[in-house]
Amino acid sequence: MFQKAKTMVFPRQVFAGHRVIERTGEMCKYLGLNGNALIVTGSRTKKIAGKKVEEILNDDGYNAHLVEIGAATNENVEKVKKIAEEIKAGFLLGVGGGSKIDVAKLCAKEIKKPFISIPTSASHDGVASPKASIKGGVSVDGVVPLGIVADTEIIVKAPYRMLASGCADVISNLTAVKDWALAHKLRNESFSTSASTLSEMSARVIMENADRIKPGLEESVWIVIKPLIESGASMCIAGSSRPTSGSEHLFSHALDRIAPIKALHGEQCGVGTIMMMHLHHGDWEEIRYALKKIGAPVNASQLGIKKEDVVKALVMANKIRKDRYTILGDNGLSADAAEKLAKITEVI
Ligand SMILES: [Zn+2]
Repeated sequence: MFQKAKTMVFPRQVFAGHRVIERTGEMCKYLGLNGNALIVTGSRTKKIAGKKVEEILNDDGYNAHLVEIGAATNENVEKVKKIAEEIKAGFLLGVGGGSKIDVAKLCAKEIKKPFISIPTSASHDGVASPKASIKGGVSVDGVVPLGIVADTEIIVKAPYRMLASGCADVISNLTAVKDWALAHKLRNESFSTSASTLSEMSARVIMENADRIKPGLEESVWIVIKPLIESGASMCIAGSSRPTSGSEHLFSHALDRIAPIKALHGEQCGVGTIMMMHLHHGDWEEIRYALKKIGAPVNASQLGIKKEDVVKALVMANKIRKDRYTILGDNGLSADAAEKLAKITEVI
């Protein structure tokens, strides 16, 4: 008997562009959202967008509440959950950078309520994906945002470093899909050509437009936001982070443990991509060149990380997620091989 089955969950509505934040209420109505709204934001992002979203929703007839949080920790997920229950929230909105969106995403999953993603920066592809990361860990499952409101006028005001980091996170798809194809061949891991193609295409769009991605230009955000959202969509097709997260992400997660809070997630993944592409015998110089043009870090000193920590992270990387087979294999790199790889690719 034929018994194959697969489910896919996607965002239902995406608004991207100039001043789309003003249409948040319109989106909530279109999506049929009822009940009280809980806006999860931070102290800085509240001023940039959180307060505005509150006003817009109240004007549109919703009863909006606002909760301010700090980092993406389990305590903050619990805090938001408690408030959501107290105010009987019908839906949640994550307004901020990665951590506010991640907390809203995880809380929405636990209380089984819909969630809207409103990024104020574009530092990684989590704004449109079902994945969330809690401090010190690898990514965990949240819920796919029902709607995404990506206002380019707001995002362009975030420090440029964040946008460059978002580009690097999408460029890292190029090694992630190679790792995935390898795991498919060697381990018979299930593989989706459509997810892999979409993921790779998102990275190519950023690479091809690297010249046009510059600080202070709203058009740059416009160029980046679409591939960033499509990168998230590739995870929705695959039902996992596989198309966007391979050995280069393992390297970044290892760095998080060895040298925490030194560089941004996407920045670390970008540098990881240069090295992992070398292991894959791919065009690592092309990656390095594009990252440089965009203004993302390409070596240890630009990441603010010690050379020996890069080597340590390379050696540790294959041990981070045993279920994720990559070019690093089962045993990973020896310290000598790691140092050689980092030197050849000019990371150290
Ligand atoms: Zn990432």
